Amino acid sequence: MAQNVDTQLLKAERIFSVEGWVCLVTGGGTGIGLMCAQALAANGARVYIAGRRKHVLDSAAVAHSPHDGPGQIIPIGPCDVTSKADLEKLCKELESREDHLNVLVCNAGISGPKAVPDLSDATQLRARLWEKEEPSEWDGVFRTNVTSVYFTTVAFLPLLQAASTRPAQQQQHATASGSPRHLWMGANVIVISSMSGLMRGSQGHFSYNAAKGATVHLTKLMATEFDKTGIRVNSIAPGYFPSEMTMSDSDARGKSYLSDDIVQGKGHPIPAARAGSDEEMAQACLFLAKNRYVNGEILVVDGGVLTQVPGR
Ligand code: NDP
Repeated sequence: MAQNVDTQLLKAERIFSVEGWVCLVTGGGTGIGLMCAQALAANGARVYIAGRRKHVLDSAAVAHSPHDGPGQIIPIGPCDVTSKADLEKLCKELESREDHLNVLVCNAGISGPKAVPDLSDATQLRARLWEKEEPSEWDGVFRTNVTSVYFTTVAFLPLLQAASTRPAQQQQHATASGSPRHLWMGANVIVISSMSGLMRGSQGHFSYNAAKGATVHLTKLMATEFDKTGIRVNSIAPGYFPSEMTMSDSDARGKSYLSDDIVQGKGHPIPAARAGSDEEMAQACLFLAKNRYVNGEILVVDGGVLTQVPGR
């Protein structure tokens, strides 16, 4: 039965604390993955960041590990999430350091080929789409954005379940009652999908939007099918955020900058008229990480885009 708690127990610093938690973020050295890693570390977690470029992970960890408080950002890997062998190696490396994993953020992703379908002549449309895209490019986009999310999650299920079943006294800020039922659904996976997977327009990249649609559905499938393990699976569907994907580059600290002008030139209405911020991604990440009553949810953080373009 739900119980009443004192008002002071509802302070943000308590209900969003991840102190002592162990987290892993794929693609955590730049962009949205780095924002999630910072959010979790700032609130007390030991956050491992993985990716293919070791130097990017190392410099992001040095630049962004919190100076005050117990949280840490720790490079691990390198790991290519499209390789089962690499995932197995990553899993073993993490198991050698930690006996459980509270949060897995499946964030690594790539964009795909671009071919804008804004032609009414079918012959011209065919020529453009046929010539500008290759099946191998579609395979690559699906392999990183969908297939790897599945295999990364599967690889870490035992370590995640080990967090869910840890005794209450070992779980920081578990619940007021600490009953086994309340501890259930503690460990969780956050999949970074996209608003692109929910809208009906292709934005000139069919393969990416189709892949992200699959990422959204995969999240729902895993939430339902893995329910018995006590591991929640949710997704954040971001709109425009600064990253290497959106700006093709990042600085020495793994950060990118996305101006209002660029966002407003995307060809569809963006009510917020700007990119999303580190804080806004952090709020979404902490909400899904901590709220045990949310499972199988797709949390859209898009500055209102999907209120304006055909989508959900
Ligand atoms: P970035 O390119 O900055 O981040 C992607 C990260 O994933 C990189 O750090 C990259 O590191 C890593 N990565 C890519 N491929 C692999 C791989 N095969 N194995 C391991 N790591 C990999 O872009 P974003 O921050 O934008 O992208 C993060 C996620 O957010 C993606 O899933 C993207 O689709 C999604 N997204 C982004 C939006 C945005 O506006 N930024 C909007 C909606 C969704 P490395 O190259 O070193 O491996």
